[in-house]
Amino acid sequence: MLKNFERYSLTFGPTPIEKLDRLSEYLGGKVEIYAKREDCNSGLAFGGNKLRKLEYIVPDAIASKADTLVSIGGIQSNHTRMVAAVAAKIGMKCLLVQESWVPHEDAVYDRVGNILLSRIMGAEVRLVDDGFDIGIRRSWEQALDEVKQRGGRPYAIPAGASVHKFGGLGYVGFAEEVRAQEKQLGFAFDYIVVCTVTGSTQAGMVVGFAKDGRQRNVIGIDASATPAETRAQVSQIARDIAKLVDLGFEIVDDDVVLLEEYAYPCYGIPSDETKKAIRLCAGLEGMITDPVYEGKSMQALIDLIEKGLFAEGSKVLYVHLGGAPAINGYSYTFRNG
Ligand SMILES: *Cc1c(COP(=O)(O)O)cnc(C)c1O
Repeated sequence: MLKNFERYSLTFGPTPIEKLDRLSEYLGGKVEIYAKREDCNSGLAFGGNKLRKLEYIVPDAIASKADTLVSIGGIQSNHTRMVAAVAAKIGMKCLLVQESWVPHEDAVYDRVGNILLSRIMGAEVRLVDDGFDIGIRRSWEQALDEVKQRGGRPYAIPAGASVHKFGGLGYVGFAEEVRAQEKQLGFAFDYIVVCTVTGSTQAGMVVGFAKDGRQRNVIGIDASATPAETRAQVSQIARDIAKLVDLGFEIVDDDVVLLEEYAYPCYGIPSDETKKAIRLCAGLEGMITDPVYEGKSMQALIDLIEKGLFAEGSKVLYVHLGGAPAINGYSYTFRNG
């Protein structure tokens, strides 16, 4: 589906699929849980899902003759850390607008984890006061103007690399990769569970799995706590990407499955159930999930299995999208483990 698109390699190659035996067993042993380890996809600053998206964006950035990547996210954004790493790797400058998306308890929340890594990689990091929003922001447009005024050539990468014409391609490729791995494994996954906020990860998967009619088996877990916006953004990106890759038919609203009930109390703050899921998965599997994203999709996976949503014998692929560095901003939450 992607042969007409240029890709700049930023990852190691296909990511491993690992069976989570102890977690499956703990949850009754009737559903087999596997994890697709997108969190281990690259040597670039701890990797994660944004690199798969950026592989299809970097060729356009290079072709545009830009010298500065400009992007935006929350203070503990994984995405901006990945943009900083990519800028370093391809020899560009990097300007990051970091917004106050999360009410936080840790005194060093803006010093550790992702933002620390971005600073070390040489990005210019700008903290601003705006709250959570997955849309286009003024502060970001100002940053772009400023680079131009200084005589630089900015290349704009929106929040989560989602609302970019090529933002959804990487996860179309993910679906193709899973299909190839299923051939080797000798079975197909019944469900794919994935965390969703800015939307292009799920949107790419929806289009990629639509190829063999499985788009509604992609279960998005909203972590934005603004699910109407997120759902609309996933649908829009999926429709655009379906056209771009010539899927041959339209994606409709019902193709986007997004569960809304796990994002509480708000974006970036883990509920007690999220914390429990993080501890359970870490203690049984040594697999680290974070309080912002993967902890919420892990909580959902556990809850859906406990509620019996998946038929006995189902094989469920939990997609681990990365994000572990952010956990350093939650030392108070986990002060006692
Ligand atoms: C960005 C991100 C997500 C959400 O992906 P979207 O494409 O923004 O929906 C999930 N998990 C982690 C770790 C992320 O960094």
